[in-house]
Amino acid sequence: MIKIQDLAKTYGSINAVNGIDLEIPPGQFFGFLGPNGAGKTTTIKMMVGLLKPSRGRIFIGGKDVAKEPVQAKAQIGYIPDRPFIYEKLTGREYLHFIADLFGMDRKIAWDRAENFLEFFDLAEAKNELVESYSHGMRQKLVISGALIHDPKIVVVDEPMVGLDPKGARQVKQLFLDLCRKGVSIFMSTHSLGIAEAMCERIGIIQKGKIIALGSVEDLRRLAQKHDADLEDIFLELTGDTDLQTLVHSLQTPAQ
Ligand code: ATP
Repeated sequence: MIKIQDLAKTYGSINAVNGIDLEIPPGQFFGFLGPNGAGKTTTIKMMVGLLKPSRGRIFIGGKDVAKEPVQAKAQIGYIPDRPFIYEKLTGREYLHFIADLFGMDRKIAWDRAENFLEFFDLAEAKNELVESYSHGMRQKLVISGALIHDPKIVVVDEPMVGLDPKGARQVKQLFLDLCRKGVSIFMSTHSLGIAEAMCERIGIIQKGKIIALGSVEDLRRLAQKHDADLEDIFLELTGDTDLQTLVHSLQTPAQ
């Protein structure tokens, strides 16, 4: 369970996040959408304890991120959009290192590491240095590292970027399996097709505030756009109707 209460972050005069309330129950796949600069990454960084909120509280599995940061963070698997990864470790060593950071039992951790390497087709490269890995291979390794300690909550920023179709499908499958096991997934993305296909519930943030919250069907009703896809709904709710008109005019042959 993720609970966010009146969360805010200001940078000087900028209200990057401006009073967010959210609850994500166990097993829910939640999509966090918003235009550039809306406050998604700032929210995520506060959730995982990388940024201190200006106001408000965040509870991860009942633990207050500000008061019990270690206990809260132990329950999170965080997949950032631009991960830091140790270039001079092999893929396998990287996973063992992450498992040690979480204080995992080595036998369990090492078995899990082999399973992830196998699942993501990284087994052949597991003894190669990460510096030789492609972007997609790194992404798969980072996802494996974030999940190795069996977190109850997964917080993920743009997970599919750089993955080939097979890798993207593997990640989707993995996430859906985790949800079925009761893991809550909080995913920030600009890939509206992926969000529509995977997320049970969606929140749209704009200028630091949640402007819409619910299932795709709920958002359709809110936007009064029956039969529309999430892209149309998103553009309507975030007020990008100029863009819609432009796209429409480009698609309409000149008289
Ligand atoms: P994107 O989709 O482009 O990644 P985002 O929704 O993740 O955007 P944030 O990165 O959270 O948006 O930024 C929210 C606002 O806060 C923006 O106006 C941004 O310029 C501002 N901001 C973010 N980090 C800082 C910082 N360190 N100092 C000052 N302003 C910041």
